[in-house]
Amino acid sequence: MENKFNKTQHQFISEEEKILNWEDVQKSLEKNFGSEIYKSWLKDITLIKEYNDFIILGVPTRFFRDWIVSRYLDKILEQVKSFKKTLNRIEFKITDDLKINQDSNQSEGSKYDDINKITEIKDSILNYNRLNPNLNFENFVQGTSNEVALSYSKKVCEQVSRYNPLYIYGSVGLGKTHLLNAIGLELQSNNNVMFISAERFMYHFIKSIKKNDMVNFKDFFRKSSVFIIDDIQFIRGKESLQEEFFHTFNSLMDKGSQIIISADRPPMKLDRVQERIKSRLSGGLIVDIDTPDLDLKNKIIRKRIEDIQSQFKETIEINNDVLNYLANECKTSIRELIGVLNRVIAFSRIHKRELNVSDCRNILKDVFNQTKVVTVDKIQSTVSNFFNIPLSEMLSQRRSRPLARPRQVAMYLAKKMTTRSLPEIGRRFANRDHTTVIHAVKTITKLSEKDEEMRKNINHIRSILLE
Ligand code: ADP
Ligand code: MG
Repeated sequence: MENKFNKTQHQFISEEEKILNWEDVQKSLEKNFGSEIYKSWLKDITLIKEYNDFIILGVPTRFFRDWIVSRYLDKILEQVKSFKKTLNRIEFKITDDLKINQDSNQSEGSKYDDINKITEIKDSILNYNRLNPNLNFENFVQGTSNEVALSYSKKVCEQVSRYNPLYIYGSVGLGKTHLLNAIGLELQSNNNVMFISAERFMYHFIKSIKKNDMVNFKDFFRKSSVFIIDDIQFIRGKESLQEEFFHTFNSLMDKGSQIIISADRPPMKLDRVQERIKSRLSGGLIVDIDTPDLDLKNKIIRKRIEDIQSQFKETIEINNDVLNYLANECKTSIRELIGVLNRVIAFSRIHKRELNVSDCRNILKDVFNQTKVVTVDKIQSTVSNFFNIPLSEMLSQRRSRPLARPRQVAMYLAKKMTTRSLPEIGRRFANRDHTTVIHAVKTITKLSEKDEEMRKNINHIRSILLE
């Protein structure tokens, strides 16, 4: 049977040759992922077309697709392959474009979909090597705080390997990932570009060790001619990962590959990172991104509004006072700025009227008040007090419901009330994976929609925290 398939590769196959029974596959997905994940994410996947070496699956929205691709794709492919060995990749088609509008990140969403209705995933490492077409140079707004970083990011694209490595640092939400991604997009047509976060790099590193597949891992990363690694500070304290990274780095430099790195601080300030790595990282060009000034913040707001208007063909009425208010209040992060702007726009859509500053103050009360005071520590202790369980128990690995629920509530609040990323939150909860945090956020969001008591509890804890 395998031979027959090989001969007709890429051709659409006739009815008789279709061997996948999607119901069977789904049963196996349910068995392997557990019914909770299955019901939330996998049940609605449909089989659209079956080819010899790949299948096209239908998913309802872009959000669904991204979620599934980033979390479950490896395992899904593995499962499907157990039914049909010749398959080596999965493509996705979005079946319900209308729903894109519900996605919170909608301005980025729809554009992405137009060019990318079908996402092609070749193999498991490549899943994480996807560049986001929306984070490009054209829509990166230049300001005093980022012009040096921007200009060298562009230079690297013109003169590959001249500034090597290029090291870009700055605190969260200032555009590092955006720049790295833009470089990748620019270079990908003529180079073998690898773009990965240090965290993902570690994930694959550990997976390869477990599968006894280090040879492939090394080959995979060392064959790139442009190696872009995001958030390198993540390697702190992880000795074997640093060892591997050091060798990858050297071997890439030896063959003249361009390396681009981002971090939240300059190389020499990376703590618990080997000296030899720090000195390697400092060997090229180091540029930083600073916090945005008012002028840049205003430009970014205007650009966002223009983009949304032209994409959704609607007029957005936001007066200058409101714009200035937002730009003034968001002190440190562009991510936060964009977040509050989206919120204000969503609000004015719902209420179908132009908002004033005092509306905004209300809408954004929790955002602006909390980022200064609420910490993950404080959330954890408040939640454990509130539910009357010892903090150590709440953070432990035990899974009994009386502990698991409060733990999920605490994770949920950490996500909603601090600017910490999902992986960071996971780490603060006894080193749990970020997927656990995502699951907690989803569970509590759902519960608080239908469970009156849960909603009250959450609001109560929130108000204690904001007191
Ligand atoms: P970092 O990686 O530094 O934490 P990101 O690159 O993820 O930050 O940026 C956060 C958000 O802000 C992204 O949506 C990004 O597109 C946007 N952003 C940051 N800087 C700019 C800029 N100069 N122009 C337009 N958007 C920006
Ligand atoms: Mg980033």
